[in-house]
Amino acid sequence: MKAEIIAVGSELLLGQITNTNATFISSKLAEIGIDVYYQTVVGDNPTRLDEVITIARQRADVLIFTGGLGPTKDDMTKETIVKHIGTTLVSDDEALRYIEQYFERSGRVMTDNNKKQALVFKGAHVLPNSKGMAPGMAVEKEGIRYILLPGPPHEMEPMFTDEAIPYLLGATGNKEVITSRVLKFYGIGEAELEYRIQAILEKQTNPTVAPLATADAVTLRLTAKAQSADEALELIAPVEKEIRAIVGEFIFGIDDDSLSSKAAEQLICNGWTIAAAESLTAGLFMAELASEPGIGSSLAGGVVVYNEQMKVTQLDLDSALLDEFGVVSEECAAALAVCVKRKFGTDIGIGLTGAAGPSPHDGEPVGTVWIGISFKDEEPKTYKLFLSGSRNANRLRAARFALYYLVQYLSEKEGRI
Ligand code: ATP
Repeated sequence: MKAEIIAVGSELLLGQITNTNATFISSKLAEIGIDVYYQTVVGDNPTRLDEVITIARQRADVLIFTGGLGPTKDDMTKETIVKHIGTTLVSDDEALRYIEQYFERSGRVMTDNNKKQALVFKGAHVLPNSKGMAPGMAVEKEGIRYILLPGPPHEMEPMFTDEAIPYLLGATGNKEVITSRVLKFYGIGEAELEYRIQAILEKQTNPTVAPLATADAVTLRLTAKAQSADEALELIAPVEKEIRAIVGEFIFGIDDDSLSSKAAEQLICNGWTIAAAESLTAGLFMAELASEPGIGSSLAGGVVVYNEQMKVTQLDLDSALLDEFGVVSEECAAALAVCVKRKFGTDIGIGLTGAAGPSPHDGEPVGTVWIGISFKDEEPKTYKLFLSGSRNANRLRAARFALYYLVQYLSEKEGRI
């Protein structure tokens, strides 16, 4: 089966939004073994959409559309496709009821054009929209499958995963189950990771091992096909073990884990409290941690001590230490961590200091960062980074590295590494 993804929306062509829907759908199709040969973007223009469909029908068996299902005049995906299918649009009772209830719940008056969202192709398989109003649909005509999905990613993604994938799996007649496990890495680049596990990548078959670098982490997706999910996981386990033996120190989590969710889980589960003293990151570390629900029981607070004087007055940091070693130093990071822990009466203190750029700071080159972690009465631990990005990229990476080192440190405490 070959698929083509057709994203409809003039804002995509104007560069106002990125076509993340195509990325999401392509990655999901790859997992179930459906090839995507083309991704197309077309504006809200019926003539050009019509041309795109005519071409796509010649080179794909599955045409997946996103966008243009809404109530407004420029939403004309259904009206254009209907001509190719040679059917009519009919109102779907269930979808209409759902839309009416949606308006009732939000206390808004439903205008007539909203009824348009309940129109589906006659005989189509309706894909319910759990996060919005416009339903999606799937229909087959002359051996070609048309799948229509809404534009907003938070509506499209669950609909694709929960409704369209099972529909496609049914269509392929494939009874095998495909299961993935994602290993998440930090502190190692994609190139180095690939180099170190080259032998595993070269011999991969089932499971397949696919590296991917995102802004938050480098990931390895292990995907296996088998008769059941348990069997697939059994195929994945020995390969994961092999990978862990080589680069396990850089793995901070699996599947949906993020650095902040992992750190929050460790802090909350162990009942440890934390405070941070941030210089170059000016609160980014705390903001990342605060994005996690339930962190209130662990995150006591912290201070932004951007200039030298504040480090001394707010945290009682010894000014002689700053005179001797400078603010971008191992000693300063350690002292920040110890002082903030004492000030806030927490189990853990984090200190962050560095030269974010564009100019060197305190004689230290741009990108130099020191992170300190102080845990209870133990000697503080320090980490040095040399970052090479822009000022704000360096600041964000410094905060993320602090989370990564914290996760590693706490894993050792938990006896897990
Ligand atoms: P609505 O009912 O919101 O109008 P729709 O199905 O008609 O939904 P569009 O109007 O085409 O979808 O897009 C709505 C919003 O969804 C866009 O403004 C954009 O934020 C997002 N969106 C649309 N297409 C994509 C895409 N390919 N990738 C990422 N986001 C998209």
